[in-house]
This record gives sequence, C-alpha cells and structure tokens, in this order.
Amino acid sequence: MQAPVFVGHDLYRQAAYGRHHPLAIPRVESATELCRTLGWLENGAYCISPHASEAQLERFHSAGYVAALRTASETGSVPAGVRQRHGIGTMENPLFPGLFERASTSVGGSIRAAELALQGRLAFHPAGGTHHGRPDRASGFCYFNDPVFAILTLLDGGVERLLYVDLDAHHGDGVQDAFAQDPRVHTVSIHEQGRWPYTGGAEDVGGGRARNLPVPRGFNDSELAVLVDGVVLPLAQRIRPEAVVLTCGADALEGDPLSAMALSNVALWSAVEALAALAPATVVLGGGGYNPWTVARYWAGLWGRLSEKEFPRALAPEARAILEPLRCDLIDEEDVRAEWRETLADAPNPGPVRREIHDLV
Ligand SMILES: [Zn+2]
Repeated sequence: MQAPVFVGHDLYRQAAYGRHHPLAIPRVESATELCRTLGWLENGAYCISPHASEAQLERFHSAGYVAALRTASETGSVPAGVRQRHGIGTMENPLFPGLFERASTSVGGSIRAAELALQGRLAFHPAGGTHHGRPDRASGFCYFNDPVFAILTLLDGGVERLLYVDLDAHHGDGVQDAFAQDPRVHTVSIHEQGRWPYTGGAEDVGGGRARNLPVPRGFNDSELAVLVDGVVLPLAQRIRPEAVVLTCGADALEGDPLSAMALSNVALWSAVEALAALAPATVVLGGGGYNPWTVARYWAGLWGRLSEKEFPRALAPEARAILEPLRCDLIDEEDVRAEWRETLADAPNPGPVRREIHDLV
C-alpha cells in the first residue's frame, strides 16, 4: 500500500463567498494548517492541486455556463438573464474575487486525486465535495461538481464498478443525477430528511442504482453504524467496487448551524475508514460544513486517521492557535464549546437507534 496523499492549494486561504455567506469561514485552510502543525503533511504527503482547464470543465458543464461563470467572476457582475439561467450572482451562489479560479481548482484537485487513486494512493481532497453543481447552473453553494470529475476520471482509468457514498447532511443530488444512466456507478447518500434540496427520499433510486437514506434530526453515532453496517457495507459486498469516492461534508456533525444531525467526528472517521478500505482506488472529498471549528477538526483528524498518524493526547499551543481565533456569525459565542478549541476528537455520541433507522435497513 502506497502512502496516502493530501491534495490542497494555497488559494483556499483567500476569503471567499463575500461577508455574509455561510461559507465565508475558513475551512480547508484551517484543516490544512492543523495537519501541517501536527507534522502530518511531511515526506511528500502534500500535492498541490492543478486548475481544471475549460476543456476539462466542459466534459460535464455546458460551454455556455463555463464561459458565463468566467466572465461573471472577472467582471464581478452578471446580467439578470445570466443570473436567472445559470444561478450565479445570487445570495446562494454569490460572485466574489477569485471565484472561477477557486471553483476550477476544486475540479482540478478532484481530477488529480482520482489520478493518484488509480496509481494506488488513497487521495484526500478536502476542497472537493461540491455535490450539488449542475451541468448548466450553480446550486447549493456549488458552482461546478468536482465529485463528478473524480468519478469520470476513475471511469476513464478503466473502472467498471464504482461506489459513491455521500455523507454530507444534504442529499448528493448532482452526483446521483449525473450518473443515473451509467451502469458502472452506484450512489448512496445518507442525509438529513426534510432539508434542502428536499430530494433523496428512501424511495428514490435514481436511474436504478441509487440508494438514499434520509435520516431524522439528531442522527447519532449508533444510528450511523447501523446504516453503514446494515446497508452500505452489504451493498459494497454485492457490487465489489473497483473504486470508491466519498463526499465527507462536515455538516453531519453535531454543532453545525445549518443542519441538525448529531454525529461525532470519531464516528465519521471510523465510517470513512471502513468505506475507504473497500476498493483499491479511493478518493475522499470534503463537502459542506458551516461550523469552522468542527469542520477543521473533522477534516484534519480524517486525514490523520486515513494516513495512520499518531494523534496527540492534547493539542499543542500552535494547533490551538489555529482553532482559537475562528469566528462564525451563525454560532453565538456562548455556544462555542471549549473542546472545539482545545481538542481534535469529539467524545463519541452513541444513542438509541430509532425505528426510522431500522426501517431503512
Ligand atoms: Zn451539506
């Protein structure tokens, strides 16, 4: 087994999404900095993400949309018709300096991650996971759909059976729809029921190979284990995937301001670890996540687990100095827990397994 690789880029240090957007918080940069501070990015573990070219982007996105996004990003404005047609320059998907470069780098990173996975290196790309992007429009804070490109790259490499598992709090609608007609791709999405985009009900099988597991508020560690052991792993045993792509949005964690799931990061680390081991080629992506502390801790610790690093008993002052200054408009100061600033691992959050969860199995 070759050493895993972390795909990143310095441009994620730049402010993005404007001042009042839920994604206007540091996420990838703080996770990356935590890993760096912990000594977890040494010895060639870090790979700089390339940008995707327009020709690459047009493999999934329409040429008109790619050009419109580039122009809007360069000029900082968008005509009303373009806004309407492509969903850009809105409250949801705002324009901001560096938008096109950032979005196309996220695609380039997922393509590179898939190329590395084909070479036998587990690839972690926390800036990926924009699972709502559509061929002709932005959706749900996602301008392009980088998981689609990771999957296309793996299929290009000869993969015949691919499993995509989406652990973000929101339904992985854009990825499911992109491959609904492709018999090589199976998709599973575990997400909070009754949340935007309101698709992905238990009866939704997409083109026939999608499995959707909508879960109730307060979804806990024990319930995650039941779904992973009772649905996802048995499905994987039937498919025998040659490649696995995982979207690991941090909004499924307890404390996220935009969703109401209650997972601990340790439960998600274990689930991702089990899923990542299912195939010889694995790409692990990020996704949503609107609590800057829980995002940074989840993704940093996920890299630590995937690359088999030793976890410190307590975070050193340099690591705490990354978590301490974080701020979030969506979370009241008195709700910021001390452990979010001082530790990496959450306490596990087991609980009763509710009827709705058993019904999904
Ligand atoms: Zn999400």
